[in-house]
Amino acid sequence: MATAKITIKTAADIEAMREAGRISARALKAACDAAEAGVSTKEIDQIAEDLIRGYGASPAFLGYGGFRGSVCASINAEVVHGVPSKSVKLYRGDLLSIDTGAIYKNWVGDNANTVVVGGDEATDDEGRRLIAVTREALYAGIEQCVPGNRLGDVCAAVGAVGQAAGLGILRDYVGHGIGHQMHEDPDIPNFGRPGTGPRLEVGMVFAIEPMLTLGGERVMRRRDGWTVVTADGSRAAHIEHTVAITADGPDILTLP
Ligand code: MG
Repeated sequence: MATAKITIKTAADIEAMREAGRISARALKAACDAAEAGVSTKEIDQIAEDLIRGYGASPAFLGYGGFRGSVCASINAEVVHGVPSKSVKLYRGDLLSIDTGAIYKNWVGDNANTVVVGGDEATDDEGRRLIAVTREALYAGIEQCVPGNRLGDVCAAVGAVGQAAGLGILRDYVGHGIGHQMHEDPDIPNFGRPGTGPRLEVGMVFAIEPMLTLGGERVMRRRDGWTVVTADGSRAAHIEHTVAITADGPDILTLP
């Protein structure tokens, strides 16, 4: 893990980022609430975009690297970066991972969640376990976001939860620093060694985002150039928060 140029935010910066984070979180919640059988991922995308723009913010993903959507909508074996489409409709029992980002006053908020279309009872035990463990892994990582810890402590904590549960942990896609840019240094892998990497300081802000699967860690990209799917067809979950490191400990900025 190279020592990256990690930007330090002031307390005022963090409050400004919280505004972007809140808009992103509200868009995520609205998108997840709209995820019902028969709804297309394009309709969900529109709901999130309208909400983001309603706050005077702009969708961080739209146009990013040419991405055609305000959300990423990834279903079952799709892990991340699913492109919203009119022709992709949700089915009861689908695991739907939604990722939303908002830019507000030149700050970015980024968060993701995985929900079951039709409610938790619409999937099987494995599906519910996958989502629960992914959330647990995220919060294990967040807990390590305290000054004086090292980045490897965060990564290792996330990975340990996934590994203990016997789930696949993506290697090719990682969390990231965040601020004026959606993707800043450092990379934040979902695995690592405790006590390694840069020392965490007050004012660093990270997007932590475990991506776990019910099978292996290998993934492929669809021909659309974006959608990342598991190579073995196993289902995946992806849950993310933007988190600031403060003197009082981790501060989650993406709350609605
Ligand atoms: Mg992210």
